[in-house]
Amino acid sequence: MLGPVLLAASRSDAIRRIVSAAPVTRPMVDRFVAGELLEPTMSVIRGLTERGLDVTMDFLGEDITDPAEALRNRDAYLALTEELAPLGLGARTEMSVKLSAFGQALPGGHDLALANVTPVVEAAAEAGMNVALDMEDHTTTDSTLAILSELRKKYPSTGAVVQSYLFRTEEDCHALATEGSRVRLVKGAYKEPSDVAFQDKREVDKAYVRCLKILMAGDGYPMIGSHDPRLVAIAQELGRRYGRKLDEYEFQMLFGIRVAEQERLLAEGHRMRVYVPYGTDWYGYFMRRLAERPANMTFFLRSLVSR
Ligand code: FAD
Repeated sequence: MLGPVLLAASRSDAIRRIVSAAPVTRPMVDRFVAGELLEPTMSVIRGLTERGLDVTMDFLGEDITDPAEALRNRDAYLALTEELAPLGLGARTEMSVKLSAFGQALPGGHDLALANVTPVVEAAAEAGMNVALDMEDHTTTDSTLAILSELRKKYPSTGAVVQSYLFRTEEDCHALATEGSRVRLVKGAYKEPSDVAFQDKREVDKAYVRCLKILMAGDGYPMIGSHDPRLVAIAQELGRRYGRKLDEYEFQMLFGIRVAEQERLLAEGHRMRVYVPYGTDWYGYFMRRLAERPANMTFFLRSLVSR
């Protein structure tokens, strides 16, 4: 019940102000967000990569309303590329971008987002790194996939994200399961209406498995973005069934979530990539993490009332 309420709250400015000002929020945010500034975040990155984990970095920010913010976000990613390149880790370091942070929702947003994200993808490619286009709510899916296909003409390793809760996604998986195509499969983190998305968690999980089969059987590079132990086990089984070597797909999990499981998969020889968010605009990301797990929310509410 709480999940949908929290997802609605994740887009409310009034609730943003209350949650951001509450003193108990900070320690919870620190669990999910690597840092507010680039410098401390880089030491987190060095720590993770030294342990053998790969990373994909998310400079927090979404749903911007001013074109100047899009330019600031672009510049933040360019600065990030300059920090990551000297690590010399190539594709082990990746960047995840939300096109709404690049102007996708503004007038003329499709072209604007493409124009703003292209220099980031170019700079990443020069440093041997990839960029993945995070997927946001369903009203953006067509535009995001069209921008992906535009970028992939010159930068074929630009990654896509697909969400198993959307009815359309099996079809998208068929279209994306091609040579060189990097596809992160997730369940989906937004509040979506029943005419476009499964509402029942079990239906979302079943759709995840159907999509996973398509991606594993295809010619692309599947990236399993989930903490769900059952889906992780199914992905390993499908990897074996479709004769994929351990470096022909990868697991991805969010920073601070199921850390022991991340280490376990790595120790088993899998590629394990951690999605590392950083920056000051953590509100929307944080609320989605609360919405995913009632225990997080209970803990948060208890801390609020016990003060
Ligand atoms: P769940 O059934 O939600 O969780 C399985 C188990 O994982 C839980 O029982 C719990 O033990 C643990 N767990 C899960 N979430 C949490 C949490 N917040 N706190 C503590 N424990 C937790 N969604 C998008 O819509 N677009 C994206 O671009 C996108 N990118 C993502 C990138 C990565 C690398 C990952 C891992 C997720 C991404 N997501 C994205 C979020 C995704 O859609 C889900 O909302 C999220 O991963 C929770 O689903 P789950 O598969 O982990 O399974």
